[in-house]
Amino acid sequence: ATPPGLTPREVATHCPYCALQCGMTLREDDAGVTVLPRQFPTNRGGLCQKGWTAAELLDHPERLTTPLVRDPATGALLPASWDTALERVVAGIRAVQDDAGRDAVAVFGGGGLTNEKAYALGKFARIGLRTRHIDYNGRFCMSSAAAAGMRAFGIDRGLPFPLADLGRADTLLLVGANPAETMPPLVRWLTEQRRNGGQLIVVDPRVTATARQADLHLQPLPGTDLAVANALLHIALTEGWVDRAYVADRTSGFDAVRRGVAAWWPARAEQLSGVPVADLEATARALGTGGRVIILTARGAEQHAKGVDTVTGYVNLALALGLPGRDGSGYGCLTGQGNGQGGREHGQKADQLPGYRRIDDPAAREHVAGVWGVPADELPGPGVPAYQLLDSLGTPGGPRALLVFGSNPVVSAPRAARIEGRLRDLDLLVVADLLLSETAALADVVLPTAQWAEEDGTMTNLEGRVLRRRALRPPPPGVRTDLAIIADLAARLATAETPATQPPAARPPGTEPTSTGPAGTRPEAVAAARFPAAPAAVFAELRRASAGGAADYAGISWDRIDANDGVYWPCPTEDGPDTPRLFADRFATPDGRARFHAVDHRPAAEEVCATYPLHFTTGRVLAQYQSGTQTRRVAALRRAAPEAFVELHPDLATRLGIDDGDPVRVTSRRGEFSAPARLSAGIRPDTVFAPFHYAGAGRANSVTNDAVDPISGMPEFKICAVRVEKA
Ligand code: SF4
Repeated sequence: ATPPGLTPREVATHCPYCALQCGMTLREDDAGVTVLPRQFPTNRGGLCQKGWTAAELLDHPERLTTPLVRDPATGALLPASWDTALERVVAGIRAVQDDAGRDAVAVFGGGGLTNEKAYALGKFARIGLRTRHIDYNGRFCMSSAAAAGMRAFGIDRGLPFPLADLGRADTLLLVGANPAETMPPLVRWLTEQRRNGGQLIVVDPRVTATARQADLHLQPLPGTDLAVANALLHIALTEGWVDRAYVADRTSGFDAVRRGVAAWWPARAEQLSGVPVADLEATARALGTGGRVIILTARGAEQHAKGVDTVTGYVNLALALGLPGRDGSGYGCLTGQGNGQGGREHGQKADQLPGYRRIDDPAAREHVAGVWGVPADELPGPGVPAYQLLDSLGTPGGPRALLVFGSNPVVSAPRAARIEGRLRDLDLLVVADLLLSETAALADVVLPTAQWAEEDGTMTNLEGRVLRRRALRPPPPGVRTDLAIIADLAARLATAETPATQPPAARPPGTEPTSTGPAGTRPEAVAAARFPAAPAAVFAELRRASAGGAADYAGISWDRIDANDGVYWPCPTEDGPDTPRLFADRFATPDGRARFHAVDHRPAAEEVCATYPLHFTTGRVLAQYQSGTQTRRVAALRRAAPEAFVELHPDLATRLGIDDGDPVRVTSRRGEFSAPARLSAGIRPDTVFAPFHYAGAGRANSVTNDAVDPISGMPEFKICAVRVEKA
């Protein structure tokens, strides 16, 4: 139904891009679709340039409107019918699995997919393809904070409090976060916070648009944020700002942390990070003596081979100061992708089942298998994290077929040329996307998908607030939704023979699977019933699958979302409350206590040397989003940010004989890319920066390091060693 106040050709929905999920109204008339800002608690009527221009892609001339299948004779991607394309996919899957087993097929998802799609994709991988290999690009986004949150609090929700709390904070510490460029409407909360007399402190190696607004900017060497965190806690301990009662009553493990940070006296941290002792002391004082204090981390802290420990350092600091669960205070993470939060709750991750359950937990397997109508022992075990998965493609023993939904790893993966090579080595690459991304251009089969304004669904924003995405109009002829594609593939695969080379695990007599349905039921009919294409039906099932899990959606209905400004999980019952604030009384650990973990600085996986003497770090710009598949095709955004650039300090540029605008080449041990120089006094002279949104010669990920965090699998996007020269 059309919401009150809107005409039949208007719909209240949310932006297709980042995790702020700004409210917007879409209006369609004879001139096309217009975006109008909408009052919503996160954006309060604001939109950034990306949101304002989001509708341009709906009728974009480069939009895919027919499947494409690669012609073996010419190597060209040629238009094909849906039947031809899907039969090609099924034949390819069958051939690979018959030859090499079920795990020879892998699935790669995305943090922009709706909750329903993330759920359906995880289910399709586990019981449609029966492979353990599924993971998604969220590993490259906030997996380190997710892991740090899980081990400290027993739960992973980006912000455990509403975003509006930022406006009330007396002290707000942002670590490796640049919302002024990545999610500009959030800056309204920062402005309000400072108008209320609050202090904003930013930790970032660059003078970003956000850092320029800060009362205090700490500019550490990339890769030393953990040393800064430990030094801040060292000072807090020395000055008596640690909340001893909170630590005693609500946490465990503090003694080991206290002993560890004793060695991080401020002068040592200054020597390593370059942050002056006076700034460390001022920051610790603002945190330790402020009333309402919030600490937020983002990609700058996370995208390291020690990302989990770095985030943990700031979690330790927050716990020691007694912040989590205190009114107006806390620790949180700013999620990046539109459904980065929901995308990791419903089974798209290699180690998870819906409801944020562990796939190796027998009780979780029983519950989810029951919802799916299969024996628990038929569910595959855990797969491997995204980079490990991508790097194994086409190698001996690795998957030989890959299905990609809503992701473009050719641009977004670290050491991207290597991953591009892996994709080229596959027997079968299938990409479902709305545009011919760089990854889709390599595919054997490309499946054109619907856009955000053409289908219903739900998203979960950075606050853990579940939102409605509403369709303005149906997809154009020739285009299908991801859910319809999954449903059709599942039905076709159901008629395929079970791969002989990897029989189902032995099970006791009398417990044979019921997955083939009652006698006489056709397998494709069973599959069709099991993989509905309607988002509402998928959401209803998702609620049952998530019931009792950490991310419990059982009490969240679309009607309830409509009646409110979204619903916060966990929400176990329809007539019970949702949970805007976590941790007021207890943490989600078995004993209700938060856990400290002693963490210490360690060097980056790759240090500078005579051949590669500069630190390299990557990040985002305001007018582009992620791998740029969509935003590089929007005229206004392309004009605003048309190409990659290499930001370097004027002193460094002088030393290298480089002028502003000169083409420069950046080279690491793994590859090189080229882009014009952009001189800025806002970056350290020992560090260079480039945005990662671009493909081809300007692909920054050609040089990034594929070292990963041992816990989260997060690659080290934020630091590697390079040399820079005039191209
Ligand atoms: Fe869209 Fe994010 Fe911009 Fe809001 S801040 S308009 S959600 S891209």
